[in-house]
Amino acid sequence: FSEMIEEARLSARALRDYGEHFFNPTVRLGVTGLSRAGKTVFITALVHGLTRGGRFPVFEPFATGRIARARLEPQPDDAVPRFDYENHVRTLIEARRWPNSTVDISELRLVIDYQRQNGADRTLTLDIVDYPGEWLLDLPLLNKSFEQWSRESLALSRERPRAPLAAEWHQHLATLKAQAPADEQAALTAAKLFTDYLRACRDERFAMSLLPPGRFLMPGNLAGSPALTFAPLDLPAEGTVPEGSLWAMMVRRYEAYKDVVVRPFFRDHFSRLDRQMVLVDALSAFNSGPEALVDLEAALAGILDCFRIGRSTIFSSLFRPRIDRILFAATKADHLHHLSHDRLEAVLRRTVAKAVARAEDTGAEIDVVALAAVRATREAMVARGREKLPSILGTPAPGERANGEAFDGNTEVATFPGDLPTDAEELFAGETAFRGLSSASAEKSDYRFLRFRPPQLDGNGPDGPDLPHIRLDRALQFLIGDRLQ
Ligand code: GDP
Repeated sequence: FSEMIEEARLSARALRDYGEHFFNPTVRLGVTGLSRAGKTVFITALVHGLTRGGRFPVFEPFATGRIARARLEPQPDDAVPRFDYENHVRTLIEARRWPNSTVDISELRLVIDYQRQNGADRTLTLDIVDYPGEWLLDLPLLNKSFEQWSRESLALSRERPRAPLAAEWHQHLATLKAQAPADEQAALTAAKLFTDYLRACRDERFAMSLLPPGRFLMPGNLAGSPALTFAPLDLPAEGTVPEGSLWAMMVRRYEAYKDVVVRPFFRDHFSRLDRQMVLVDALSAFNSGPEALVDLEAALAGILDCFRIGRSTIFSSLFRPRIDRILFAATKADHLHHLSHDRLEAVLRRTVAKAVARAEDTGAEIDVVALAAVRATREAMVARGREKLPSILGTPAPGERANGEAFDGNTEVATFPGDLPTDAEELFAGETAFRGLSSASAEKSDYRFLRFRPPQLDGNGPDGPDLPHIRLDRALQFLIGDRLQ
């Protein structure tokens, strides 16, 4: 019965969404990506550029002057935090620091007044929904029992390069008996060690991407709740779950996680998106090695599966996303010389290729771009000996270190980013590719993956300074250009 009420409630909402859509054309744009991919910076730069008149030559309605103005308005969903745009802009421009990253869902409404190509005045409402990509990787859990998930997670954690990171958790796991009586302390310790393991996998050295359950690393407002206090168990090959056992406790919490965390997210947010931007920190993955890249490939396939699975019959129609455009973007392209931007795009295209082939029946149009939402570097030819090397210049963030030197945040350095291989396949093959990537800096400096401060801006026009970017306008054209015809 409660399911019927739920269905009715959701149908009413769908109708309301539709009605609003009809009188007031709206695009709900989801912006996602794994932690630190660049979601916050992307949304901040996009809104700044649109509301303040940035330089977007490839974003046709903007470049041809058909967009009269874009302004922020109160968002429609009362229960979702507002994206903290004003603060983020201040941090980025005035303090020249990067804003705080996404840790939860948030939303921002932008209203765009424009002129149609036939001259009629129109308004498009753009609702931007920012949410952690980790949450998407939870969708497959809906189809899995605790036992299945446990077995898979354990098997994965026993493979290299994860196994050493799981050592402490495995030690504790060996002391647990699934059939023993439920024990809160054991569950707490197991969940903590398991989360530590997930976090270690994600850390920069390994940059592992495939890490459900997503909320363990990105708890949002649920940190510490029982629905997040479970972990895989070493289960007997067969047998039933004894009542009152640790096993039963874990099963209950795992199911609670699906009920109170995973399902509501897909129902209330994901299924209502029209367009989706997926940001990918591909450079970090290259930097970590082929395993991280293969992992990233799997994570992106997982993300794309969500769009596909949503349409299959296994799930209720409530999950069916209506997304018709998906853009994958390799971020932080300003860490590379522009000669490599196309190659970065090619590598990302290769990374999502298999998943895209499988996802063709999503009916969604998919594209790939390499971009920097905020360009923190400039390019120059720098002489080294008799050679002139294509370099990028940037100010490393205070506290960054390279070659034994610690930066104070005020010194500009030249870095030699090296070339990405022309053949994306090489990166996946390992060895060769990574030598290729690092050869240019093999001599002395390894500044390539320094974190730079946001750029120093000049030009105080009436609308304040522009934020420099790379290909942000191309992303905009793909994401909403057709809705502004
Ligand atoms: P989120 O976790 O996806 O919200 O990631 P953020 O947007 O907070 O970005 C994480 C970090 O990546 C930032 O603190 C910056 O150091 C870096 N970053 C993000 N976007 C850019 C960019 O366009 N250029 C450069 N150079 N760094 C960026």
